Amino acid sequence: MAKQPYLKVESIVKKFGPFTALNGVSLDVYPGEVHALLGDNGAGKSTLIKVLSGVHAPTSGQIHIEGKPVNFRSPRDASNAGIGTVYQDLAVNPLMSVTRNFFMGRELTSGPRPFGLLKMDEMDRITHDEMLKIGIDISDPQQAVGTMSGGQRQTLAIARAIYFGAKVLILDEPTSALGQKQQMEVLKTMMRVRARGDIAIIFITHNEIHSKLVADRFTFLALGQVIGAGTHKELEGEDIRRLMAGGAEIKD
Ligand code: ADP
Ligand code: MG
Repeated sequence: MAKQPYLKVESIVKKFGPFTALNGVSLDVYPGEVHALLGDNGAGKSTLIKVLSGVHAPTSGQIHIEGKPVNFRSPRDASNAGIGTVYQDLAVNPLMSVTRNFFMGRELTSGPRPFGLLKMDEMDRITHDEMLKIGIDISDPQQAVGTMSGGQRQTLAIARAIYFGAKVLILDEPTSALGQKQQMEVLKTMMRVRARGDIAIIFITHNEIHSKLVADRFTFLALGQVIGAGTHKELEGEDIRRLMAGGAEIKD
């Protein structure tokens, strides 16, 4: 494992008016690892990823990328720094082709945009190749995204983020809206990304089993604070179910 984390999050506080949604959250994310971010509803998971993806400015605390402090003023800043976020309601348009979704807003043209002609063949080829790298053979990249399964759509959003430079992929509940078979497809996609070794995944989930299947490292949030963190080995002996439940005692 690389010695330096790609992303280092230090003591992030986020207040909404008088309400403290994040109360000093720290975590490190290394290239090639899947880092599961777990916690009950309201724990602060979505708020944390909004801070990491430039949607919210933190009230205090510091984000570092490859050892350098960064301040994201917009989602574009975060994206330029290699933070690629795939939200639950992924931004894919089912009526448009796979290729058009892949390039959405970043189309290749023969001259300066928006005047040049679209290089459709080249975009089709890139889309096909990038999807194949991640395990999905799209025979016709001109097919509408609406013909793809939910798992394949997630994979499209992931392949797109990687192609356009994501070094940290943030996946917010990527399996929660899917059936079992599709869930496994997405987990397999995550394992393929992990196998590349150069990209980190922050995997936000409610699903303890999914997180155990793919994650190398875990951070448990409750009420805006980290209540447990570590690798499988470091968490041995911890009561995972208790951490998942926000630290509450669980009675069988
Ligand atoms: P999670 O994703 O873990 O379910 P969230 O990050 O969505 O949790 O929410 C954490 C807490 O912050 C919740 O109590 C939520 O109501 C509050 N919160 C989130 N966003 C806002 C906002 N924009 N304004 C006020 N409170 C918010
Ligand atoms: Mg959430």
